[in-house]
Amino acid sequence: MALQRTLSIIKPDAVKKNVIGQILSRFEGAELKISAMRFALLSREEAAGFYAVHKDRPFFKDLVEFMISGPVCIQVLEGDEAIQKNRDLMGATDPKQADPGTIRADFAESIDANAVHGSDSPENAATEIAYFFPNMNIYSR
Ligand code: ADP
Ligand code: MG
Repeated sequence: MALQRTLSIIKPDAVKKNVIGQILSRFEGAELKISAMRFALLSREEAAGFYAVHKDRPFFKDLVEFMISGPVCIQVLEGDEAIQKNRDLMGATDPKQADPGTIRADFAESIDANAVHGSDSPENAATEIAYFFPNMNIYSR
């Protein structure tokens, strides 16, 4: 067991659906603690920078447009094996492939509008947390 932090984003579709609280409850129910949180309406540059690893993928432009289509709610989650635990809670990228009971199976409509982002490795978690929470206190409990 390793204590980790991971970056989570509740994407514009889930914010619009008014299910922020239900998604946060899934994290808390799995013993992940919310250590930092803020809303943001991302600029095109911020969203493109965040998803820079995907810049050559055919879906990149649509992904950026979607991520700036409304406010997002960004969290740092902390707990034992937080990165994989959050990925398990999220479910597969395509909600049609996501296991029943996962966030994406329950709240997402499509592979484009898939409710949540979660870091996929310790390296990316550190980069993504620093990207959205620079110089900000993150409260371990
Ligand atoms: P995940 O969010 O599960 O880590 P990826 O990192 O592979 O998935 O992709 C980032 C985001 O890009 C996905 O959450 C999804 O919104 C979008 N995406 C990925 N693959 C596709 C695709 N084939 N078509 C459209 N959008 C996609
Ligand atoms: Mg990813």
